[in-house]
Amino acid sequence: MEKFPLLLSARSAVAALNEKTHAASLALRSRLGRPAKLAVILVGDDPASVIYTRKKGEAALRLGMAHESFHFPASVSPSEVQALTERLNADPGVDGILIQRPLPAGFDDAEVLYWIHPSKDVDAFHPENHGRLILGLPGMLPCTPVGILALLDHYGIPVESRTACVVGRSAIVGKPMAGLLLRRNATVIQAHRHTRDLPEITRTAEILIVATGSAGLIGPEHVRPGAVVIDVGIHRSAEGKLSGDVRFAEVSPLCSAISPVPGGVGPMTIAALMANTVLAAETAATPSTSQ
Ligand code: NAD
Repeated sequence: MEKFPLLLSARSAVAALNEKTHAASLALRSRLGRPAKLAVILVGDDPASVIYTRKKGEAALRLGMAHESFHFPASVSPSEVQALTERLNADPGVDGILIQRPLPAGFDDAEVLYWIHPSKDVDAFHPENHGRLILGLPGMLPCTPVGILALLDHYGIPVESRTACVVGRSAIVGKPMAGLLLRRNATVIQAHRHTRDLPEITRTAEILIVATGSAGLIGPEHVRPGAVVIDVGIHRSAEGKLSGDVRFAEVSPLCSAISPVPGGVGPMTIAALMANTVLAAETAATPSTSQ
């Protein structure tokens, strides 16, 4: 049993991914005569969302892209936000659009998924992009699952033919994560709130990915010795301290590798978003060869 597991810190993985994105962004800039542009729509003043929105804008600028953010009060009517989204969909100078979640009451989350055109949907939440992922067709891929695979790849952790358990089945993390692992030929178990005897299931996993939003849910009883554990959860204590869905201190001695919170999945998600924005711009600038 490893006493000191490999710490899957995002720092070097983000640097490697950003280096590629930066090079592609600069090449695209000279080809198009303008930078790739990300538009971010924020509704309301959720403190975490305000921080994420700012970080996304700063990351875009650092990587040679343009960025514009649109901030509405929580009282705005959904139709006003939808109208802006439609203008941005039609604007050839905008390559990627995202609507920061959570949205205030009054917005129908399922309906909002359809607003951003799939080709500009850099979060890849549109049902068309989700369907393409499941069917193995080309399309935008969601940032958190893509970031997690990039983190595993960066540290040379194989996925193919390994047993992977994803705890959580949300549309934005759990389900697409399982879909991407399947595309990479893992044997995938999807666990969720209704899973009976969770520890028995998760203990079968060589790769355990936890995205439940339930702070400290996963303890040593859930982990197979030598497993790779990825913690997607983000929780902020009253004192402002961040933690995940995994009880890091208790679990890490059992693992061969584990991602920290903060400094693991979160920064990978933003790096994957930047890569998606450049990809959206590249795809839009490349003439289609299909009839
Ligand atoms: P969600 O609330 O939409 O879904 C939670 C899922 O976990 C559900 O499918 C539910 O069935 C399952 N679940 C909840 N409690 C469980 C339990 N006790 N046992 C088994 N399954 C359980 O959440 P989400 O949007 O997928 O987010 C999950 C967490 O990941 C949150 O903490 C969120 O803040 C974080 N998150 C982080 C990033 C990042 O970039 N690091 C991105 C997205 C979400």
